[in-house]
Amino acid sequence: MDIKKIYMDADALLHGHFKLSSGNHSEYYLQSAKVLEDPKTAALLAGELAKQIREYGLEVDTVCSPAIGGLIAGFALASALGCRYIFTERVEGKMTLRRGFEVKKGEKILICEDIITTGGSAMEAAAEIEQLGAEVVGFAALANRGFCRREGSTLERKPNCKLPENRPFFALADFDFPMYPPQECPMCKAGSEAVKPGSRGN
Ligand code: ZN
Repeated sequence: MDIKKIYMDADALLHGHFKLSSGNHSEYYLQSAKVLEDPKTAALLAGELAKQIREYGLEVDTVCSPAIGGLIAGFALASALGCRYIFTERVEGKMTLRRGFEVKKGEKILICEDIITTGGSAMEAAAEIEQLGAEVVGFAALANRGFCRREGSTLERKPNCKLPENRPFFALADFDFPMYPPQECPMCKAGSEAVKPGSRGN
């Protein structure tokens, strides 16, 4: 499956000069919501991800996503795996399980994002789930931004990856685009101004 092509066909792989949530600048931005606006594509991608997870032999009771980014990917994955689905959301900055969702002691939870960059939000969701007594058995995302190492990839794990090394991370592709701190950004040096994705119709 050519994930890059699927993203490009959906206008979800944006080209420009972007300011990412980490503060870094990039020439590319992945807008996964655009890929997932077609439920058939969402089901196709989640089906591939579910296949990887089954082949690995990972036992999953429940998929949990950090809102908002992971919501649709996580729901589609739970649907493909035939398991329960819950999500965490930020309340005054803290990732929290709300809306009457509960987890059981020892329940096996897979954390699912749309894209894993360094895995910060995924780890915040994992911390909340574990604090409630359930077990985080792995991580999943449609794509890996190139900092963490997904199962089956030769791409090395970078020091700023926050995912634990002792649990598997599943993704369909590596999108390893260069990112720059603003002071080292070649596009800034060339005089263009970085835009926050989502702020100008993207
Ligand atoms: Zn820049």
